[in-house]
Amino acid sequence: MKKNLFIAFEGIDGSGKSTQVKLLSYNLQNAGHKVYLTCEPTDSPIGKLIRDIFNHRMEGDHRTIAGLFVADRLDHLLNKTNGILKKLEEGYTVISDRYCFSSYAYQGTHMPMEWVIEANSISAGLLRPDLNIYLDIPPEAGMTRLNNNRSSIELYETLENLKNVRSKYLEAFDLLKTKEKVFSLDGNRAPHIIASEIWTEIAGLS
Ligand code: ADP
Repeated sequence: MKKNLFIAFEGIDGSGKSTQVKLLSYNLQNAGHKVYLTCEPTDSPIGKLIRDIFNHRMEGDHRTIAGLFVADRLDHLLNKTNGILKKLEEGYTVISDRYCFSSYAYQGTHMPMEWVIEANSISAGLLRPDLNIYLDIPPEAGMTRLNNNRSSIELYETLENLKNVRSKYLEAFDLLKTKEKVFSLDGNRAPHIIASEIWTEIAGLS
């Protein structure tokens, strides 16, 4: 299997990304890969600003959020200590819970998607994932999972928004089908079945 992979997980809130990130990481480590797990928004000061807006600790317009994501992603890639590019150079396989498609889908529900794609074009030009893994679940199922597991609901976590975000994901996949490699699968099944399909797909990457 190819080393130094960069894999991004995508999907609406509650789609099972963090569950699958853990299972894939476990499988990769068993196969002898050094794995670096990361996520967006990141833990950097820029990512923290985004989380503060999501958690209603700070006020922020959607356009401000879109700009913060552009900056957070660039730092995520370029940071000299723990940036994705550095980690890949060091021989890690990097798995990110969310990357560019999350911006296209989430910010794309509030502003023109072409703008969001253009605003993130430096990041996308620096590094496109070897595979974007999209966990597709009905927005109603995402809401149920979130309600069962969260004490508070974040900015984007309403049923209407999850429906919009899902449709924007599909729009973005179509717009970028010649540029991005996307593996879309039904996330409304048992976690181990999903993990095994992901493993087969990754094993086939050349
Ligand atoms: P995300 O990171 O996409 O928000 P999580 O992995 O945190 O999603 O999953 C959200 C909730 O749904 C968690 O409680 C998790 O245990 C549960 N969950 C994850 N995958 C599945 C699945 N395939 N079927 C049912 N429940 C799941």
